[in-house]
Amino acid sequence: MRLRNKPWAEDFIAAHPHIVIPNPEDYKGKWGELFQNDKPLHIEVGTGKGQFVTGMAKANPDINYMGIELYDSVIVSALENALEAGTLPNLKLLKVNGAHLAKFFEKNDVSRVYLNFSDPWPKTRHEKRRLSHGNFLKLYESILVDNGEVHFKTDNRGLFEFSLMSMSAYGMLLKYVSLDLHANMPEDNIMTEYEEKFSAKGQPIYRLESQFLT
Ligand code: SAM
Repeated sequence: MRLRNKPWAEDFIAAHPHIVIPNPEDYKGKWGELFQNDKPLHIEVGTGKGQFVTGMAKANPDINYMGIELYDSVIVSALENALEAGTLPNLKLLKVNGAHLAKFFEKNDVSRVYLNFSDPWPKTRHEKRRLSHGNFLKLYESILVDNGEVHFKTDNRGLFEFSLMSMSAYGMLLKYVSLDLHANMPEDNIMTEYEEKFSAKGQPIYRLESQFLT
């Protein structure tokens, strides 16, 4: 993701606290109070410009969605997307580091984690930064419901192989694996920005669904 300096981003984000939640630590263990319902919560870690979470929130009003992104300059585009989509009470955004999820969520807060086109961190010395590394899986397990799921899409074959091995070594059940998602595109597939970009170039999209067994 190319980062552009957007000096106005901070103020624009602060002006929309009903979408980009400024005090997420206050909702740990009680996210239902924010959404004002007990629907399941699905989060996307590394949401980028938010096309996926916005599309999912529109298509699935019975699920609450939260897009999590590290940078102001990027999440501001997700906020613009959410505003353009109109009223979506089931969509919120968090500007936090995915490595700190345990500050904001506890066991059973989240029903599913989406990882879409996560940064590949190709150097072995950076593998702990990959969002499908065992340390991150442990973190996701600690905030998910029992038998919670991780759904993962990427164009990066190396990251996909790493993720299959990491999830398998962790003892997760691999429920679905595709080496070319678009060859048999599921009707309900919502494309991310990166998915549109890479599939337009003819690159295969890899996808998996995995489940914790506790
Ligand atoms: N998911 C989007 C897509 O598929 O189009 C964006 C993909 S982009 C390659 C990865 C995004 O993840 C970037 O916007 C980056 O800032 C964000 N990101 C990377 N590490 C993160 C972390 N630890 N916590 C939150 N966001 C992160």
